[in-house]
Amino acid sequence: MQYFFSLSLFRTMTALLFYLLSIYATSAEINSLRVSQSGDRTRVVFDLSEVVRHSLIFLEKPDRLVIDVANTTVETTFDRTSLIKTPISKIRYGVRSGRDVRIVFDLTDKVTAKSFILNGNLDSKDRLVIDLTLESKNISKTVEKILERTDRKIIVAIDAGHGGKDPGASGPNRLREKKIVLQIAQKIEKLFDQNPHFDGVLVRTGDYYIDHRKRTAIARDNNADFFLSIHADGFPDPRAYGASVYALSTQGATSEAARYLESSENRYDLIGGASDLNIDNQDVMLSDVLVDLVMSATLRSSLDAGAYVLKNMGTVARLHKKKVEQAAFLVLKSPDIPSLLIETGFISNPKEAKLLDSDRYQQKMAQAIYDGLYSYYVDWPPVGTSLASNIDDLVRFHTVSRGDTLSEIALKYGTSVTKILRLNNLSSKVIRIGQKLSIPPS
Ligand SMILES: [Zn+2]
Repeated sequence: MQYFFSLSLFRTMTALLFYLLSIYATSAEINSLRVSQSGDRTRVVFDLSEVVRHSLIFLEKPDRLVIDVANTTVETTFDRTSLIKTPISKIRYGVRSGRDVRIVFDLTDKVTAKSFILNGNLDSKDRLVIDLTLESKNISKTVEKILERTDRKIIVAIDAGHGGKDPGASGPNRLREKKIVLQIAQKIEKLFDQNPHFDGVLVRTGDYYIDHRKRTAIARDNNADFFLSIHADGFPDPRAYGASVYALSTQGATSEAARYLESSENRYDLIGGASDLNIDNQDVMLSDVLVDLVMSATLRSSLDAGAYVLKNMGTVARLHKKKVEQAAFLVLKSPDIPSLLIETGFISNPKEAKLLDSDRYQQKMAQAIYDGLYSYYVDWPPVGTSLASNIDDLVRFHTVSRGDTLSEIALKYGTSVTKILRLNNLSSKVIRIGQKLSIPPS
């Protein structure tokens, strides 16, 4: 028995050894090196022949960042890369254990480091990316974040569709979509600006054209929490009528996530920007999953907010469809900013065109869109906003549905019938379906 046991153990060991040898039989190569500097961040990119395992450690006196890369050879020289304006004074390397490489960044400043692997595609190789951030700047950013956590305003970017050379849809009497959507957008902006917990930002402020990608870029530059694109429909049949609300289609979201993933190093920024997650490890699958998660969370928020907006629009306009529709509109494709495209009505329908051109109706429409998004945020206040810290003092809205009674509504929101009647200037307890009530703070 003893003999057979040892033999089988020997066989297992041999198999294991062959397995390990096969793993180490091929070694990866570092083929080139690039260094870029923007603001307080330095990015070092190593082009690889294949994906590698690596680890980072900081050493002090003098300050160094050490990157150990397993089973790899260096097939390039590091001396020719310019390190001007970076916190790195020199990049050098040595071979360890005969097959691993240890790369050392000699540092002139205190930095923090993050690293990740990017898989290659048709146009690019596998890459090892090291991001260094100056520590002093880091601290001010942390302070900024702490400040943000108490009383940040919610920023709503309002995009009036079309403009300039692109008039959009047209209606009777040379009425142009680009004109009325700008007027409505300006009214929505004003409503958000009047609320101390919000800041409205107009993407287009006059009669000029902006490319679709530029529109979402303007929203991002303004740190927008939400993106509203305002439009009016046109249709050959003048009888077509009604308002609609669109979010991005799931397919559109998936293809846009894919576009981001393909488009290289940016996806790390996307994840970094959208959450506090640190992706210090090499698990590229994880970051793929995270981009997907960010994207589907964005879509979820868009659909949720869209339902609030649509419900409120239903109190002033006829609706084209009773639920939020989904389409792959380009302006809706921000992976990290919830976005809605709102068709305020059919400008090609003479009756709706007349309404959409009137100041009074535009104001009602703007108010409904504002009320919808406001109500969404009151129900789902983002952490770190002044809205969240003042949530108990805020007025809410309730749209009366079939079967609602005032006492039930009062109970639901923790207030009294008398307070609701007073806030809404109502003299009788009779309410009607579709009526919008302001609900006092509980
Ligand atoms: Zn349009």
